[in-house]
Amino acid sequence: MNTYSQILNRYWGYSVFKPMQEEIISSIASGKDTLALLPTGGGKSITFQVPSMATEGTCIVVTPLIALMRDQVESLLKRGIKAQAIFSGMSRSEIDISLDNCVYGSYKFLYVSPERLGTEIFRERVKKMKINLIAVDEAHCISQWGYDFRPSYLKIAELREILPDVPVLALTATATADVVDDIQEKLHFASPNVIRTSFERKNLHYMVDVTEDKHRRLLEILQKIPGSGIVYTRNRRKTSEIARFLTGNGISADYYHAGLGSETRSLKQNEWMKGKTRVIVATNAFGMGIDKADVRFVVHFDIPDSLESYFQEAGRAGRDSRLSFAILLYNDADKVNAGKRVSLRFPEIEMISQVYQALGSYFSIPFGGGKGSVLDFNINDFSSRYSFNATTAYYCLKTLEAEGCLELTDEVNNPSKIHFAVGRDELYRFQVANAAFDGFIKLLLRSYSGVFSGFAVIDEEFLAKKTGTSRDVVYQYLVRLNKMQIIQYIPQRKSPLIIMNTERLDRNSFYISTASLKSRKDQYVSKLGSVYSYASSTTQCRSAFLLGYFGEKDPARCGHCDICRKKNEMGLSRYEFDLISVNIKDIVRHANVQPDELVQLLDHPPEKSLKVIRWLLDNAMLTQGPGNIVKWEG
Ligand code: ADP
Repeated sequence: MNTYSQILNRYWGYSVFKPMQEEIISSIASGKDTLALLPTGGGKSITFQVPSMATEGTCIVVTPLIALMRDQVESLLKRGIKAQAIFSGMSRSEIDISLDNCVYGSYKFLYVSPERLGTEIFRERVKKMKINLIAVDEAHCISQWGYDFRPSYLKIAELREILPDVPVLALTATATADVVDDIQEKLHFASPNVIRTSFERKNLHYMVDVTEDKHRRLLEILQKIPGSGIVYTRNRRKTSEIARFLTGNGISADYYHAGLGSETRSLKQNEWMKGKTRVIVATNAFGMGIDKADVRFVVHFDIPDSLESYFQEAGRAGRDSRLSFAILLYNDADKVNAGKRVSLRFPEIEMISQVYQALGSYFSIPFGGGKGSVLDFNINDFSSRYSFNATTAYYCLKTLEAEGCLELTDEVNNPSKIHFAVGRDELYRFQVANAAFDGFIKLLLRSYSGVFSGFAVIDEEFLAKKTGTSRDVVYQYLVRLNKMQIIQYIPQRKSPLIIMNTERLDRNSFYISTASLKSRKDQYVSKLGSVYSYASSTTQCRSAFLLGYFGEKDPARCGHCDICRKKNEMGLSRYEFDLISVNIKDIVRHANVQPDELVQLLDHPPEKSLKVIRWLLDNAMLTQGPGNIVKWEG
């Protein structure tokens, strides 16, 4: 067994690598900048975790999702691996202590959210660390051509300047050919180097269902396909409406969207994970980081914004490699709604400017100030205070984010933490002088380790049980100790944040380039266009369509999507159908023939050739011109 397999086995308990994991690890080990494309569930984390464990030093992991960051840190700590996370919801002293730990302690992983990379405190400390690798998760976020561009990702290139000899591993589950090139360029790859697995998902059957009555069709699907699944819809209100419709028809279902409180959300998610709820009807806020293997179907009730998001969301089905379905419900109304979707997403510049100014007043930011502030943000409160529609305000803020003015984070769920601000001796003297606190301090010391060297996560509920008091009493104790400067106490906080990247500008100085707005809008429209092409295609295998979109050359037909099934119904094997079509294409490109001549020229049984010709004509891949001469259009 080589070192990497030993590490995989020792810390993760896995005996073999998943496809491509080893190739990626070897590429990194030889010091090469590497871009790895692995589908969701392909095991991306292992590809930077294992090589870092095999080398001296710390691996910096850049990732935009704070919740996932925290999960990964926790899971590493459970395996006895030292890991830290730094993100914008943390106080300055927490960040300070965490960074010091990485400089002086033997930390193996430092997770950082991208907007922290540019801060002075981070850059200064990083210079003192021994970094062995920079891992960039969700690397497509660095590309303007991607579907989720985040300007702060561009700061990774600056980090590379500070750490010129450290290789970079970029990871993503979805990237078109343009984005693949762009990621390598923006991350300053020494030379191009891409490792990818095929994105083919053999057990996942793609279907597009053209229907005027989506509700009825959904019900039929769920009555036919057993097991649990996800129904995605774009609209929060519709999640509850569809869930009600399903429960009304005897199907166990619940709904989920980002507007629900975090406790409610985790409750709903857990019930679904455990199989107590069969179907979860959700917006795209659901699914990131959810590792449920036996999802049998993902139905899209509305069409998604891009094939990248479709592939990622649909790909949540069938991670256990068993037969599963990815179904898109579609009708003409979807196309009509697209225009509305585009204008909602790309508000007028005047509107963006109003939201920008209102934000400045909301937080009382003086003109010329505010750069670097991290602010708790409640979009509903903000919108109602300034009479904005919350969705419009959201997309205005998203535009300001894309322009680099600010960052809007997902909800940061910060658990309570404490750190002893005094040394052991001084603490002892305090305990002797303040007998009333002695028992409580002893309990803290018994329950949590590492409270002198850094912040430790605590649970007031647990402490209340142990002391036989209430959460409130425990809170009062902690606040008092904090006031007396014995501990630093950071109470739990759950809130999205706004981070101001630039100084507040007044109305006359505020400027947004119409060209960059237009370019983003065009790109969005073009991505949406690809989704329509996928949904309305009647000739191309769904799987091959998606694989082609992601740049795979000559993708094979899957043989079981709705389109392949229709071809199969002709009584021809996939191989026969394709062979006859290729022969037809060859002939009609070089000769002017009529259908019956074509049948004779083809070296196949006439009844089979006829079926294929008819199918190609029906689907406009062949057309007939003057004199019944057939022409290849496909
Ligand atoms: P991704 O980020 O690519 O979606 P993850 O890194 O979250 O994937 O891994 C998906 C799942 O696969 C996790 O549960 C992980 O523990 C598991 N996994 C990763 N590598 C292996 C392996 N070599 N053998 C078995 N399971 C693995």
